[in-house]
Amino acid sequence: MKAIVISKPGHVALENKSIPEPQAGFVRVKVKAAAICATDLEVLAGNIAADYPITPGHEWSGVVDAVGSEEDRIWLGKRVIGSNDVVCLKCDACRRGEWRYCSEFEEIGFKRDGAYAEYMVVPSYGLCELPDHVSFVHGALCEPLGVALGTLEKAGARFGDTLVIIGAGSIGLCILAAAKAMGMRDITVAATTGKRLGLAQRMGASHTIATGEHDLVEEMRKIHPRGTDVVIDATGIETCIRQSLKLARKGGTVVLAGYGRGKTMQIRIDDIHINNLRVIGAGNNWNQHKKAVALMAEGIVNIEEFVTNRIKLEEYETGLELARKRPEGFVKAVFVDE
Ligand SMILES: [Zn+2]
Ligand SMILES: [Zn+2]
Repeated sequence: MKAIVISKPGHVALENKSIPEPQAGFVRVKVKAAAICATDLEVLAGNIAADYPITPGHEWSGVVDAVGSEEDRIWLGKRVIGSNDVVCLKCDACRRGEWRYCSEFEEIGFKRDGAYAEYMVVPSYGLCELPDHVSFVHGALCEPLGVALGTLEKAGARFGDTLVIIGAGSIGLCILAAAKAMGMRDITVAATTGKRLGLAQRMGASHTIATGEHDLVEEMRKIHPRGTDVVIDATGIETCIRQSLKLARKGGTVVLAGYGRGKTMQIRIDDIHINNLRVIGAGNNWNQHKKAVALMAEGIVNIEEFVTNRIKLEEYETGLELARKRPEGFVKAVFVDE
């Protein structure tokens, strides 16, 4: 089968590999759609722990075409999406449902081969059926949508809360889609350039701020003079996180939802202490796939327009380049098997 392989940081190629066989408890999926995520670029750059050689890809959908255990035969031929978490299901963390804290945790696309291939192997316990009327391409976005749902859940966001999202990458935009659907209000999206702010407006953001042209803290003081209920940083950039602390209302919540690339930063302690801020971290998808599929299936969230480029595995260089350069109008490139 064709698969994209990162042999070591900085080295990526389309290879011919043997089709993987699912072991007990796993199924093989014929990949129908696999979205390119900014995180995959970090794997390529060597900035994220991964087991090389690795086939990346953790935002996917497909059809089950082989199973490793008799009891999983019910999945054969089903359209699916699923969790990328390979866990023991037995330890305390697993029994609390906190799979990512499992001592045996391994993530597909990072430690195990992922979806940039014709076939992939995933655990059957993480599968969700994708209804016929949700396209494979839309289904592949259940993963970033799940990250957004997990982030808002961790933030303790409520109906009627105000929100600032810093960063208009696909996670920032997924948070916007989910926040609109759950009845958050007066939502501001801020990003360095105006490239994606038009899309944020079309998706229902009340305000958009291009931080390359305007001072975010000053602008937000005009919009919410007493601060915003929930502020989510989806950039992982120091200046943005420092601004987040100034944007939240007294007693408000700041969520760090962007990858920090191992960097450290300085903060003014009193911004958190005196203002009684809740500052929390929200990385990754916390078993939110089922909810994400349901929201898409019922038409409550529709983010299919994020997919601006449908490409073949052979066009991986174009896809990665688009994800790296993010030209005007681009949001996501997705490998499709059509
Ligand atoms: Zn991703
Ligand atoms: Zn476990």
